[in-house]
Amino acid sequence: MNIILMGLPGAGKGTQAAEIVKQFPIPHISTGDMFRKAIKDQTELGKIAESYTDRGELVPDEVTVGIVKERISEDDAKKGFLLDGFPRTIEQAEALKDIMQELDRDIDAVINIEVPEEELMNRLTGRRICEICGTTYHLVFNPPKVDGICDLDGGKLYQREDDNPETVANRLNVNVKQSKPILEFYEKEGILKNIDGAKDINEVSEDVINILNNLD
Ligand code: ADP
Ligand code: ADP
Repeated sequence: MNIILMGLPGAGKGTQAAEIVKQFPIPHISTGDMFRKAIKDQTELGKIAESYTDRGELVPDEVTVGIVKERISEDDAKKGFLLDGFPRTIEQAEALKDIMQELDRDIDAVINIEVPEEELMNRLTGRRICEICGTTYHLVFNPPKVDGICDLDGGKLYQREDDNPETVANRLNVNVKQSKPILEFYEKEGILKNIDGAKDINEVSEDVINILNNLD
């Protein structure tokens, strides 16, 4: 099962991905997470990516396509994958189509989580993440049991550097413009599934899992 998760920053892709991988044995491949790890480790890739991610701008396509191609060719992704944060440009969507053809595989569904833009600023500025396991919380919508501490492993919660109001505004701008043609691309391919992401986290999960259980 090869799935793409789409949605503006804060729509709930990471939150839903965590639910999906509990039920389906496929790896969650997030280009944002891959870049953040490379930056933390200060690898060559990280040094290139940092200057873009800092400003909320997109890392160049040739860099991003390269890391995705490598990642989906790894053994654990042979049985399927859940892509989150990729493709973000029409060039990336076309490159992915070519890669899939080369690998003799197909994308089965593109799940687009729709949330009104005015909701997203609140979601992103209130987002907190466990420094150990990466679980995502929200100060108001999905708080941990103890302030600032992960329910699962006691890790400290941190705020992403780009989750400040200025960078969020830029990320939303960039993403709104870029996502429209990609959604049209997958609509034409007949694999786009829009879901209402404004509902509660559990209700959205039910809708997503339902779609995945009913793919042909
Ligand atoms: P994305 O990966 O699409 O950027 P996240 O999954 O990180 O989004 O979610 C962004 C923030 O919104 C997080 O703090 C998360 O806890 C919260 N969130 C996710 N889904 C919902 C929802 N359905 N209702 C309210 N808050 C949500
Ligand atoms: P968000 O969707 O919440 O902005 P992500 O975690 O998906 O954040 O990505 C963080 C940053 O990593 C982006 O602002 C961008 O700089 C970079 N990035 C992630 N995915 C891509 C991609 N497919 N193409 C180019 N840059 C990307």
